[in-house]
Amino acid sequence: MAEASFTTHSSEETIARGRDIGARSKPPLLILLSGDLGAGKTTLTKGIVSSLGAAREEDVTSPTFTLVHKYSGANLVYHVDLYRIGGFRDFETLGIEDLFSENAIVIVEWAEKLPLRSPWPALLIHLEHAGDDARRITVEEVPAAR
Ligand code: ADP
Ligand code: MG
Repeated sequence: MAEASFTTHSSEETIARGRDIGARSKPPLLILLSGDLGAGKTTLTKGIVSSLGAAREEDVTSPTFTLVHKYSGANLVYHVDLYRIGGFRDFETLGIEDLFSENAIVIVEWAEKLPLRSPWPALLIHLEHAGDDARRITVEEVPAAR
């Protein structure tokens, strides 16, 4: 299981790291983002989604109220935000499990709240504040479950 970590010092740098991650990603893939409010989950997602050619950076926003955004361009990307998810019943109505039958990249913010295991390979990305505009970002690759 490969693991890498790095520190960024601006949102632009985090977006650039997101682009690198997107460039190395191919569907099917689950990208699980964890970390506090303001840690940079949506910012990193902007880079990932734009380098996948699924949407422009400025069109990627946190799906805080709708919970799921769908971006389809060169790749199909779903962007999920579980910040406001209530209980499991709430989660079931989202239909996340149905996404696993598509050839997509699924990015989940607040992945700490995801109550399921996926059959797909995954990238576990944890972001944390490291003072002012610094963010510590750890990326762990998890192979598909067998
Ligand atoms: P989250 O989705 O984790 O709640 P956002 O990406 O929406 O976080 O917000 C991160 C905020 O922190 C933005 O306002 C961004 O401009 C700011 N910021 C400052 N430094 C960084 C950095 N190094 N990486 C990411 N965002 C940063
Ligand atoms: Mg967010």
